[in-house]
Amino acid sequence: MAQYKNQSILNKSDHEAFDSLHSPGTETLNSGIYRCAVCGDEIGIAKGHVLPPQNHHQHKPGLGPIKWQLIVFAVTQG
Ligand SMILES: [Zn+2]
Repeated sequence: MAQYKNQSILNKSDHEAFDSLHSPGTETLNSGIYRCAVCGDEIGIAKGHVLPPQNHHQHKPGLGPIKWQLIVFAVTQG
């Protein structure tokens, strides 16, 4: 599970970007931390990069394919 120290520099948000599940190989629309909704594995990735492929980490048989979900995104200024 992603961790942070200082709550005063993070904002809770109901932004729709958090609602989507993304398949491996999908180009990211936000820089941030993505979590596999199936097993909880997490990655950091920049906007415009491609989410790791199906072989990034292994799921136990029967769990199904990797599904990436945005959990924290970076807000840039300007
Ligand atoms: Zn997973």
